[in-house]
This record gives sequence, C-alpha cells and structure tokens, in this order.
Amino acid sequence: MKSVLAYTESGRTNLLDFDQKSLEAFFAEIGEQRFRAPQVLKWIHQKGVADFGEMSNLSKDLRQKLAATCEIRTPGIVFDRTARDGTRKWLLDAGSGNRIETVFIPQENRGTLCISSQVGCVLDCSFCATGKQGFNRNLSVAGIIGQLRMASAMLEPARRISNVVLMGMGEPLLNFDNVVRAMDLMLDDVAYGLSKRRVTLSTSGVVPAIYRLRDTIDVALAVSLHAPDDALRDQLVPINRKYPLAELIPACRDYSAAVKHRKITFEYVMLAGVNDSPEQARALSRLLSRVPCKINLIPFNPFPGSGYRCSDPEVIARFQELLMSSGYITTVRKTRGDDIDAACGQLVGRVEDRTRRTKKIALETT
Ligand code: SF4
Repeated sequence: MKSVLAYTESGRTNLLDFDQKSLEAFFAEIGEQRFRAPQVLKWIHQKGVADFGEMSNLSKDLRQKLAATCEIRTPGIVFDRTARDGTRKWLLDAGSGNRIETVFIPQENRGTLCISSQVGCVLDCSFCATGKQGFNRNLSVAGIIGQLRMASAMLEPARRISNVVLMGMGEPLLNFDNVVRAMDLMLDDVAYGLSKRRVTLSTSGVVPAIYRLRDTIDVALAVSLHAPDDALRDQLVPINRKYPLAELIPACRDYSAAVKHRKITFEYVMLAGVNDSPEQARALSRLLSRVPCKINLIPFNPFPGSGYRCSDPEVIARFQELLMSSGYITTVRKTRGDDIDAACGQLVGRVEDRTRRTKKIALETT
C-alpha cells in the first residue's frame, strides 16, 4: 500500500494536506486510532488551533508524538489589503518564492472567498492576466485549503465565508487530486461544512476531468466559455482546440444531469468588438439551449498588454437582454476591489512575473 506520509520542506508532515479519509489512513500508519482523525480536523479547521498542546481531547502521548513529527502550516501572508468596497485581498507565500492570491468578496447576504489552485496557469487564455504569468506548479492540498483556513481566521465572524469559488489562479481540474481533497474538507462537517451548492469549481473546459469530477464529488460547476463558436473560442481559450464545444457542451449537460439537474454557470467575459455582438448573443443562446444553466457576463478588466477593451455598458445590457429574452437567467458581474487589483482577471496583480512574459507581451504590443 502506498504510504500516506508526506513531508514538507521542514521535514515534518503538514496535517493540512489531509482530508478525513487520508488522515485516518495516516493515523493507522503511525499506530493510532482512526477516530482521532475527525477530532484533529475539528481542532485544525473549526477551532483554528495550530499547537498540538492545545488539543485537549487527545492523549498526552499522541500530542507529544504529533508535536515531534507534524506541523499545521498555512501559506504565510505577504500582504493584506482591503478595498474601499470591502473586498479584501491577500498575497500569500506558497513556498520557494511563489506567490498566490486569495480574495474575499463581501456581499449583503453572503461572503465569497475566491481561491487559487495553481501557481500561474498553463492554459494561457488570451484575456487573462494569470495566463500571462506562465505556469509554475500545482498547489498542495495545504496550499489550497490553507487559503480558506487563513481567511476564516482573518475575517471577523460577522463576515463569515458562505461560498468558496475555485476561480483564482490556475485551472483546478489540472490539479485534480489536490483540489478534490481540499473540496472534501470544505464540505466535511468536521472541517468547514459548506453546502455543496456553495462550493464552485470553475474550469476552462478540461472535458475528461469534468466526467471524472462527476464521478468523484458533488460541487457546483462553472465553465469559462467566453465565445459561442469554436473559431473564436480557439483564440480566447486555447484549450478549446483540444476539447471543442461539441465535446464540452455534452460534458456540461451530463454533469448537470448527474447533480440532479442543478444549473451550470457559464462565464462570458465581455470584450469590445470581439464577442459582444447581438448575433453572438443569439448564437450563445442556441449553443446552450439544451443545458440547464445560467450565464454570468463579466465586464473585462484591462491589464497592460492585454490588447482588449471592455464592452460598453449599453452593449453589455443589450447582450444580457437578448439572453434573458431567450429564457436564460443572465447576470452581469459587478467589478469589485478595483483599487487593490483584486478584480477578476487581475489576480496576478503585482505578483512577480516569473517567466517575464508580461513584459515581453507589453513590449510587443506597444
Ligand atoms: S482564465 Fe483560468 S484557465 Fe485561462 S489562463 Fe486564466 S487562470 Fe488559466
């Protein structure tokens, strides 16, 4: 049997890397009872404890054993800023000089935490600031769930996190195992106990992994669509060349059926003169006609070298109207946290450009 023991740079096992099942296996492997797993998870995730000495329902021997070989390590905070509209952004140290971002968006009756799944992203969507950073590495389970644990500790109780979206840096389905294990913890009553409708994985369309997700865990699915036809989507979301719409749309339909016909959210960034015409709204409406879904229109946030402009508000309103008249629930995302670079598509913000591609692109386009 494969060992579940995993060591961090410090040589200790980071208990943030375990969901309940794998922590049970870990305790069995070190000669302890499996029922210790839920006890320890409650201390870590619900009570925010990082000192084994405080885990009063564990035996003294076990506390000493864990203190000698294990740790509870969340990514360190590099900076922490709050925008005028209450949006809060953290830049976190993901080890080896890597930086990731986590954003909390308070709304009237809910609080949404947007978390990252990778350092950078390999998929290079043409309108995305993260894609321009290049790919560095997958985040561990600790790196993913650590963002939720950190934010839960930093926010006042009144600003409780009710929703989590995996919509930050990276393509979550390309870090499948770690993302699923982290989502297990989000849903688990001994950890965060979030409703499966309130944990959303957002993908650019890694079709085989959508089917795998269907068979693995029940969470809400969002798909970054951004174009109503293959020719345009090939340019905007290059993974479309590998998994075109004729494969993606049936996978979405299938996922919705598997989760009791819950709606898929399709995200559509509004790019002036690129994907925002009335004809394209009608084509989008035809494309999605057999998928239970809602559509979220996202005003584009320009960044240096992107080469795109955001559609005018009247154009977005007309696009929305056309979709709504075809029966789609269609929302327009409010841009949040502009003054701290926290708006979607700017998640890279001031993160070091590890591949220097941003500068290169900026030079090429000036
Ligand atoms: S939109 Fe998502 S999948 Fe595409 S490059 Fe950006 S982070 Fe990666």
